[in-house]
Amino acid sequence: MKKRDQDRLRVAIQKSGRLSERSLEVLKNCGLRFARSKDKLFWYGQDFPVDLLLVRDDDIPRLLLEGVCELGIVGENIAREVMLERDSDGELNLLRRLGFGHCRLSVAVPEDSGIDALDGLRDLRIATSYPALTRDLLEKQGIRTHISELSGSVEIAPSMGTADAIADLVSTGTTLRANHLRELEVLFESTAALYKSTRALPEEKQALLDRMLARLDGVLQAAESKYVMLHAPRARLEEVTRILPGAEHPTLMELEGSPDRVALHAVCRETLFWEHLEALKGAGATAIL
Ligand code: ATP
Ligand code: ZN
Repeated sequence: MKKRDQDRLRVAIQKSGRLSERSLEVLKNCGLRFARSKDKLFWYGQDFPVDLLLVRDDDIPRLLLEGVCELGIVGENIAREVMLERDSDGELNLLRRLGFGHCRLSVAVPEDSGIDALDGLRDLRIATSYPALTRDLLEKQGIRTHISELSGSVEIAPSMGTADAIADLVSTGTTLRANHLRELEVLFESTAALYKSTRALPEEKQALLDRMLARLDGVLQAAESKYVMLHAPRARLEEVTRILPGAEHPTLMELEGSPDRVALHAVCRETLFWEHLEALKGAGATAIL
């Protein structure tokens, strides 16, 4: 390997699929720029010595385990599956959850099946693309089943008569309904995450990773934060501040001509819901932006 390669990190991301765009976006938000080559597997990092490898998501854990890449962005569902499959030689470190690619691994049964709880699955046949993860999660609840692995179109297995139930990824549930399946129970919640192999990095690469993670933390925090402005009665300031989630140090400003009200500006580090807005109004807040 040439000298300069020793000081560069490689991140594997999905080449084309549900995670591709957001994976690239999060890296770009960290200030990373790549000389892209549409058809090629490898994008060279321009301002920051981090390069990209574009691959199938299923290959990402293996690329990390084999040391081809130091980092990878992949769904927890896939990372966990590979870790369970490989046991002790398959460990990966989850560095950060990235807040996209949400889905759940759920057990579903035919709409007209009498099964109404996981317990009813004992000794039945379950089709899934995640056999190790499904087996692990069911066995943790004391439920033994016959699991068969299908790489795709898991949802048609029950109507084909090859399975009694399935364990599959669900986000909206449309696919399940279209196949007359009923979601019985969520086994696992997954998001896209940044993973690293467990091997220790040489000093320069570790320093580079630390810099990248510091940027990433800023990006993730900014994505969750909201800047809130409102007017509030001076007498109820404490109450108003308490309602705003994760806004420890608001800025207060006088309102010209109304001494009993103030303008409040705050950064909320948690999600703001309609209930928060209603509670704020209830506490006398107006002009909420
Ligand atoms: P590849 O060609 O890279 O193997 P794929 O078809 O296996 O692609 P996608 O369908 O793009 O993969 O899904 C990638 C990841 O997106 C999943 O592993 C999962 O973590 C996440 N995901 C989010 N929502 C869903 C969903 N509704 N169904 C399946 N995966 C989902
Ligand atoms: Zn895949």
